[in-house]
Amino acid sequence: MAIWNLGSINADMVYTMPHLPAAGETLAARHLDRFLGGKGANMSVAAVRAGSQVHHIGAAGPDGAWAVERLKRYGVGIRDINEVDTPTGHAIIAVEPKGENQIILFPGANRALTWDQLDQALSRASAGDILVMQNETNMQAEAACAGRDRGLRVCYAAAPFNADAVQAVLPFLDFLILNEVEAGQLKEASGKSPDELGVKDVIITLGAKGARHINGETGVILDVSALPVTPVDTTGAGDTFTGYVLSGLDRGLPLAEAMSLATKAAALMVTRHGTADVIPELKEVQAACF
Ligand code: ADP
Repeated sequence: MAIWNLGSINADMVYTMPHLPAAGETLAARHLDRFLGGKGANMSVAAVRAGSQVHHIGAAGPDGAWAVERLKRYGVGIRDINEVDTPTGHAIIAVEPKGENQIILFPGANRALTWDQLDQALSRASAGDILVMQNETNMQAEAACAGRDRGLRVCYAAAPFNADAVQAVLPFLDFLILNEVEAGQLKEASGKSPDELGVKDVIITLGAKGARHINGETGVILDVSALPVTPVDTTGAGDTFTGYVLSGLDRGLPLAEAMSLATKAAALMVTRHGTADVIPELKEVQAACF
């Protein structure tokens, strides 16, 4: 099987700060790193490192050739990434010593995906493959609908949260992944709790408390604890979790096992600075002692 990821590609500029700047405050950073990032790219790399075949459907500008090349080097399928005449998306990420972060996103090329591109990519997918999307590109609702028509398992990671975007894809979803804040926002917007959304599988990630699966058909809840680590940078934790959990399902693991592996991978991830480049390999995750 394979994973098709309609996803963002960003240059992540990570500024190490003494604290997160308040409104109106000018604050010097202590350090700057440039990483490959974007929720889409992070999830693609996480799913490849977890052992899956991944096709990334995305776009980058001429300034993003290095990012596409790096995805290729990491083993992500890049045939469905278009070069467009728009600047590559980027994120300005401020990280404080305890690992909390603040992010400014410039979507750029990530919003320049086309129907033809999507249609051509999905025409090579097989029924039972996984299609995953987040909210950093355009074309999500079209992709979710086309994915459902082709018999793919359609998954949406509702981040960054936008109530209209979630509601547009909800009817086509098999799988919804949100963090605790997003789950609260969705409840507020829709008036429905996760088991009332009509989605078969809902996972809510709970940071240092782990993750919860809610079976949308039976209401049965499965809780998986987080691993005890000292976080230094929580950027990419949710993306690592999602990539690993979907790869587990793609490789035929039972859901509980996929979630357990995903919480271990995400725990290792929060002990590291950076995004896609530092997502752990399956071997490291399996060998890690917590
Ligand atoms: P997001 O990064 O999308 O906001 P979360 O903060 O819920 O999502 O984190 C995603 C996953 O990363 C969690 O379900 C958990 O497994 C892991 N994780 C996050 N923070 C920690 C932490 N402090 N300690 C251990 N694991 C963590």
